[in-house]
Amino acid sequence: MEYLYAPWRADYFGDCKEADCIFCHLSSNQDKDEQNRVFYRDDKVFCVMNKYPYTPGHFLIIPHIHTNSPATLESEIWLHLQTLGQKGVALLEEFGAQGVNYGINIKKAGGAGIPEHLHLHLIPRFIGDTNFFTTIGEGRVYGVDFDTIFHKIKTLAKNHFKSTS
Ligand SMILES: [Zn+2]
Repeated sequence: MEYLYAPWRADYFGDCKEADCIFCHLSSNQDKDEQNRVFYRDDKVFCVMNKYPYTPGHFLIIPHIHTNSPATLESEIWLHLQTLGQKGVALLEEFGAQGVNYGINIKKAGGAGIPEHLHLHLIPRFIGDTNFFTTIGEGRVYGVDFDTIFHKIKTLAKNHFKSTS
């Protein structure tokens, strides 16, 4: 992760925020949502484009609370997360996805990229994309304009995520 560790920021974090956690950082900096590619937030969760997308349109739904397992998350927040996840699938289908990978890797052994802060992946899939993206290798999505995708998803979210909280 390209992320500047800023110890002086610790003062601005409440009890449940971790100063060196990228997701807490995103959660706490609403004024930077546009540049951080956060396209939706309410009082329980926020949604952000994956910085290293598996496919174009790959985004994350993340609780504001810093916790590493569903087991330690309040049921109300968990249910809200999943409700948004369901709407997120509809969003991606409208985006053009022919399929979706939906899930959470829990903790380091579970394969989580950022194991300390729970996040739900929604990855749009397209017939033949495995071959296509493998061919392009590390530059998988660089042929597609990331900003264009961000704004498209953000526009769709206004429709799909309204009156959810
Ligand atoms: Zn965190």
